[in-house]
Amino acid sequence: MRLMKHWQPVIERFQKKLTIWKSKTLSFGGRLTLIKSVLGNLPTYFMSLFVAPAGIIDKLEKLRRNFLWGGSEGNSKIHWVSWNKIIANKSDGGLGVGSIKAFNTALIVKWWWRFRSEPESIWAKAISSIHNLQGKPDHILSLKTLPGVWNNIACSKKDLDKCGITINMVMEKQSTNEGDDLKWTCPLSSNGNYQVNTSRRKLDSCSSVDIGRFEWVKEIPIKVSTFTWRAKQERIPTFVALSKRGVNVTSTMCYHCGEVEETSDHMLIQCSYAKTIMKWILKWCNIQPENISTVHDTLDYASNWGNCPKKKRRLLGIFYGTMWSIWKSRNDTVFNNKRLQPMKLMDIIMSTLFIWVKYKGKCDSIRWSDWCLNPFIGL
Ligand SMILES: [Zn+2]
Repeated sequence: MRLMKHWQPVIERFQKKLTIWKSKTLSFGGRLTLIKSVLGNLPTYFMSLFVAPAGIIDKLEKLRRNFLWGGSEGNSKIHWVSWNKIIANKSDGGLGVGSIKAFNTALIVKWWWRFRSEPESIWAKAISSIHNLQGKPDHILSLKTLPGVWNNIACSKKDLDKCGITINMVMEKQSTNEGDDLKWTCPLSSNGNYQVNTSRRKLDSCSSVDIGRFEWVKEIPIKVSTFTWRAKQERIPTFVALSKRGVNVTSTMCYHCGEVEETSDHMLIQCSYAKTIMKWILKWCNIQPENISTVHDTLDYASNWGNCPKKKRRLLGIFYGTMWSIWKSRNDTVFNNKRLQPMKLMDIIMSTLFIWVKYKGKCDSIRWSDWCLNPFIGL
């Protein structure tokens, strides 16, 4: 299984699945959800028994990368954010897609767990017998001279080592409540059982990325949250950002005011158009923040606002929805030559947020008339 040709069926299956989904018809949030779920479509037989060669992992990651950014092989689009930020855990500020390498290692390490925690099972006894390991189950983990599949499994130890994860961090023996019996538990997971996803996240967290904190709000659609996540990093296709990446734009000036270059911070926060909207939004929320001039400042303000976590998340959601709506309105102006009056856009923002909070946030009882007076209603 070290040969690339043996993995060709895996590549083909992956490719086929992504082709069927048609990246062009989906939003960024939709494509993100699909590249996460495509891991579940990898043949687990291959991934749980064999360490995939680096070339295969690269090929699979490239297919996911191109799909996310709306391209295909031979038709590469701009990749706005580095892949390590996309795969990084949400708790580390990433998009939580998870790497295929970590997934592969976590699946393989599960065999160690099963071998130790199920010593009485027929297969564990058979393996012990074949490899002459009776009475020394610990050795199975590091014996690289083992033949066959167990060689692969033993070799994955080096992938854990690279992340500073020891065997004892994956499994340790603890006494049970019933008496002196010892049983294996997995310190990585909260319930003590080995979980592939928990291990994968642990493995992914070892490659640090500098993104900063980002909070996800459940009532806000993923396409809106990911837009804000990108805007915070200046990674949305503004005129300035496109021009920096070699795209020919007629002008880099802001389409609304025409006075300043169009960056994320200008278009979403500093432009007179955005300022008017944000002033009304803040009035609606009954708050008066100071010194807010960037997307980062705005999100930072909301993240540290007040003492009620629910209200804080609602405020963040309102800011995400507002910035996304300003971006949509900007696109309508640029591509369709439709210019929305700020008052009209404000109406759209309030009603869109109302629908998200009421239905996605499961606040069925809130009424439109109350919502217009107080966006923190129902908390
Ligand atoms: Zn402007």
